[in-house]
Formats: sequence, C-alpha cells, structure tokens
Amino acid sequence: MAESIKVKCPACDQILAAADEGGLVKVLREHLYEEHALEMPPERVRENVVAQLRDFDGYNARPISRA
Ligand SMILES: [Zn+2]
Repeated sequence: MAESIKVKCPACDQILAAADEGGLVKVLREHLYEEHALEMPPERVRENVVAQLRDFDGYNARPISRA
C-alpha cells in the first residue's frame, strides 16, 4: 500500500489522510463541507494542503505569517 500523507483540518484539528496531494484536497474539501458546512473552492483547499505539507515536520509550530 502506498504511504499516506496527512493534513489537519483547519477548523477542528481532525487528521485527514490520503495517498497523495490531490486526494488530500478532495478529502479535506469533503470534510469541510460535510462537517463544517464550509464550501471552499478547491484552490483554497489546495493552498492549505500545500502549506501544511511544506511545514509538515513542524506543523504544530503554527508557522504561518510570522514576520
Ligand atoms: Zn474539521
């Protein structure tokens, strides 16, 4: 089985996993819609996924926009 990659839901911190980036965008988007009634465009979801993957090793460190 392929190694899965993971991101955290930005709204509830639930961990979501998929086999690749495209899969993560899909599961996160579905999760946001179903669990939070948030309809986000795939572009926005992908940006979040990519940002989390880039910082995955330290994703607990809240890396975004510290000037
Ligand atoms: Zn959530």
